[in-house]
Amino acid sequence: MASITLDDVTKRFGESGDAVVAVDDVSLDIEDGEFVVFVGPSGSGKSTLMRIVAGLETQSEGDVFIGDALVNQLGPRARDVAMVFQNYALYPNMTVEENMSFGLKMSTDLSEAEIEAQVTEAAEMMGIGNLLDNTPGELSGGQQQRVALGRAIVRDPNVFLMDEPLSNLDAKLRTTMRTEINRLQNDLGVTTLYVTHDQTEAMTMGDRLVVLNYGELQQVGTPLECFYRPANRFVAGFIGSPSMNFFEGDVDGDRLACDGFEYELSERMRSNVGDRSAVTLGARPEDFDLSETPVKGNSVEVTVDVVEPMGSISYVYLRPVDQSHEDTFVVEIDGKRPISEGEQVYAYVEPTDVHLFDAN
Ligand code: ADP
Repeated sequence: MASITLDDVTKRFGESGDAVVAVDDVSLDIEDGEFVVFVGPSGSGKSTLMRIVAGLETQSEGDVFIGDALVNQLGPRARDVAMVFQNYALYPNMTVEENMSFGLKMSTDLSEAEIEAQVTEAAEMMGIGNLLDNTPGELSGGQQQRVALGRAIVRDPNVFLMDEPLSNLDAKLRTTMRTEINRLQNDLGVTTLYVTHDQTEAMTMGDRLVVLNYGELQQVGTPLECFYRPANRFVAGFIGSPSMNFFEGDVDGDRLACDGFEYELSERMRSNVGDRSAVTLGARPEDFDLSETPVKGNSVEVTVDVVEPMGSISYVYLRPVDQSHEDTFVVEIDGKRPISEGEQVYAYVEPTDVHLFDAN
């Protein structure tokens, strides 16, 4: 097991003139045994960063340490990391048993019997003990991914690296495997990096999230920190589903006016605003309330555009009646509350639930 340290890591692809900066000056300390999730939109540099840790890609600048060892010059095998990929990457002509034992046979001088014992143990852990004689083609996607995970476990590596391992599975299986990977990581305590673009995986799996956009670190924090205290508008919009709503506004003395929402600046808001005269106000769908009548002077009159019933909750898309805010915004209400399209109501958010960011 090992900690991982990235020091000012940058990766450029292509010629210097029109190079793509896939990873932009990222520094990160990951503790021994930690489960860290790299999250961000497609193309944000998650896989490249993981591949740099694996030794499958060489950074253009910066240093990578695993434990105390500088590993810049080491290939993947010498780094003692085990990777699990989206496409499983199993050998189609080998049995499950052979797939799981192959790495050990190549890299250790353990006896046949010792290898068999370790493979059996890992297979039991993954619930595939009865499939050892099958070939991958005879298995479902979920079973194949269990084999890929089993193969990683059996190597007993310093670090697990998982790149979107669940994205080829159906929704139900993804939920099951999510829980299993969490349990496994917890039981084994192996430092784990996990790449995903999936909200739910990000919120439920890691000890900490590393949020990336255009190769740049946006925020490093627990899932709840990123959700409740997003460092910037990008993180606020990316973490949470449906996304936070944003309204542009101006600060005038002690008052903030954002597309019809009016607030007297509280101390917290004042310190968030700093010396800016224009800000973006963010509010999550679940933090809005709807009322038949105006509320506290800070509600906005809206028309119900679309109602999306989800069961216990509904998402309601609202269009402001009387102002320049052209876009609809979305609020979450109790699914049992009657509401119909075309209805006019007032939407409001408590000042304590308002987030403030740099103006767009
Ligand atoms: P993510 O995993 O977040 O989807 P990637 O790390 O795959 O992002 O890619 C980050 C950026 O680097 C993208 O713009 C991508 O097109 C580019 N990129 C990744 N790999 C290569 C490569 N081998 N050659 C050129 N560009 C690449």
